[in-house]
Amino acid sequence: MSPIRLAIVGLGKIARDQHIPAIAKTDGIELVAIASRHGGLDGLPWFTDIESLLAEGPAIDAVALCTPPQVRRQQAAVALAAGKQVLLEKPPGATVSELLPLIQAAKNGSQTLFATWHSRFSPAVKPARAFLAEHGVRRVEIEWKEDVRVWHPGQAWIWEPGGLGVFDPGINALSILTDILPAPVFLTRAELAFPANRDAPIAADLAFSDSSGFPVNAAFDFRQTGPQTWDIRVETDAGQLVLGKGGATLSLDGKALIGEPEAEYPNIYKRFVELIAARESDVDLTPLQHVADAFLLGRRTTVEDFED
Ligand code: NAP
Repeated sequence: MSPIRLAIVGLGKIARDQHIPAIAKTDGIELVAIASRHGGLDGLPWFTDIESLLAEGPAIDAVALCTPPQVRRQQAAVALAAGKQVLLEKPPGATVSELLPLIQAAKNGSQTLFATWHSRFSPAVKPARAFLAEHGVRRVEIEWKEDVRVWHPGQAWIWEPGGLGVFDPGINALSILTDILPAPVFLTRAELAFPANRDAPIAADLAFSDSSGFPVNAAFDFRQTGPQTWDIRVETDAGQLVLGKGGATLSLDGKALIGEPEAEYPNIYKRFVELIAARESDVDLTPLQHVADAFLLGRRTTVEDFED
């Protein structure tokens, strides 16, 4: 079978850091064009937007939408209407309900819509899920704290409505949580700290539970300088399971359980190729629903201005 011809839409940090190298490593898919307002890649056809890519560009089978969430729904709708397969960066959209017509359109056309959650492809996730299926969970503590100036320099969209602020990284923790726990949880409390000059939170404290009442607490913060923290600690009947470094490490009572290297984006593209071959979609909205719930239930506090 000839490789899937893919175009990247939105040539920013994640497209350059992860998508381009991962596509190059993946059998069955090749990068053939770029649509991005401010520039393309040497040697590849470049268009300023998805409409001109589709109208004037080379033949493509699929698009990877690496733009900010606020503009992705419209781009996905255009791509699906043109019969293309669609990969969505996380979070899949700016609202939960805007995703529903896209899911339906993909279903109607037997096309693939793949809402990626890259952290779910980290090496700790599968073994953690298997462990928690066997052992009782007593408590979960999530600490997801990073320096926004290091990871999102100059990304104005992240502070706009729909940009999610600290939930942009925090949703990665929620994507892991919802994948490893044997039963669903729901939000019970949220405190959201908004800089006085911004429309998205810079920090969030969340509490979740399930019908049995076990506690899940999450602390997200964009103001952490020095060492960064992306940890999930799960107290179980069999000891403390820790997913560290965003899921790159896994330990039980301090003893390392995995030694696999991180390969999130190559695994994402492998899955995309498989989904397209099977004419299937993979869209789980649960992490985005939890974030929406935090905005619904959250008590808002105002903190000092944030300047990049
Ligand atoms: P970014 O560096 O700002 O890149 C996004 C690109 O999309 C921009 O370079 C821009 O290219 C284009 N774009 C921006 N605003 C647009 C608009 N209004 N309309 C059309 N195109 C627009 O952001 P990023 O960090 O790559 O993040 C993009 C997505 O990937 C986000 O949802 C983020 O959560 C996700 N993600 C990011 C990371 C990370 O480490 N940064 C990790 C995993 C996932 P042009 O100006 O050339 O159009």
